[in-house]
Amino acid sequence: MIDAAILLPLVLGLFGACIGSFLNVVIYRLPREELSIAKPARSFCPRCKRQISWSENIPVLAWVFLGGRCRGCKGEIGLRYPLVEAGTAWLFGFWGHLAWSRGVAGGEDCALLVIGLLLIAICIVVTFIDIDWRIIPDEITITGMVLAPLLAIGVPRLHQASWLFGKLGDAGVERHLAAAGSSLAGLLVGGGSLWLVGIGGRALFKPKEAGEATDAMGFGDVKFMAAVGALLGMESVLLIFFVGCVTGSLGGVGNWLIGLPSVMQDIARHAARHGYRTRYIVGAAMRIGWRRRRFIPFGPFLSVGVLVVFFWRAELVQFLLHDWPMLVGSLFLGQRAG
Ligand SMILES: [Zn+2]
Repeated sequence: MIDAAILLPLVLGLFGACIGSFLNVVIYRLPREELSIAKPARSFCPRCKRQISWSENIPVLAWVFLGGRCRGCKGEIGLRYPLVEAGTAWLFGFWGHLAWSRGVAGGEDCALLVIGLLLIAICIVVTFIDIDWRIIPDEITITGMVLAPLLAIGVPRLHQASWLFGKLGDAGVERHLAAAGSSLAGLLVGGGSLWLVGIGGRALFKPKEAGEATDAMGFGDVKFMAAVGALLGMESVLLIFFVGCVTGSLGGVGNWLIGLPSVMQDIARHAARHGYRTRYIVGAAMRIGWRRRRFIPFGPFLSVGVLVVFFWRAELVQFLLHDWPMLVGSLFLGQRAG
């Protein structure tokens, strides 16, 4: 007999690989208005439109055996396809492991397990559609804003850690009502906080390169966070926003570093032409740096935040409110005292 502690992550991992294969289809089809998720039922090669057989659809393995090429047109199949499948498999398995180690006993625990899987799938789709198209589709965000409060009412456990939850009562029918109230608060706080940042961001950044997506932060992000807030409550959605900003800043610095060599070349070329005076070089650096700034979508970072907070909310709060201040305190105050 295999132990359930191993069996559950294993089964969920295999299930996740198949779901990942489906998510690749969703990522490709959802933003394309001429395609629907359901039709055609069978996947096809985007290049030669050839139908893909079941054996070419086996997650990860098919890509490896085909050498990353379509059997029909020999066109390259992006590395992203097996990566999405493997990533979904890993996250499903990991969530299974985490949920099991915390105990899956009652109906609400099972519901929480399923909601976690749903959340993983949504975050993966949001991440890649936002990277490709710089949008988060209404099919996800608005559906989420409608369904999340219903889920919260049905599974009050989702809001148990929320401040508002205890205030409204926590037994019997009151639990469900409290969850509904907390869900509504989360919806407003989640959407509202991102909307405010969006207004500020729009005044500061208007990337022209993005074409139609000229908003520093599109309303897709606002609706996505409203839905997430409704599902997980207002404290969680603020934490998600925080994690999104921290990881987003790191991503921004990385993005900037990648672009730096070519910006430096431009500045050097400019200086060679116009003379090496500091004043000119600084001016040119600022102009070129500004013109070359690249837009990075926020959706992927918010998605990372959603999963981090959903997986480790209690640990994160403990770290931010206790361990981190202690560490900073011991570093600065400790040294001064010593
Ligand atoms: Zn093909």
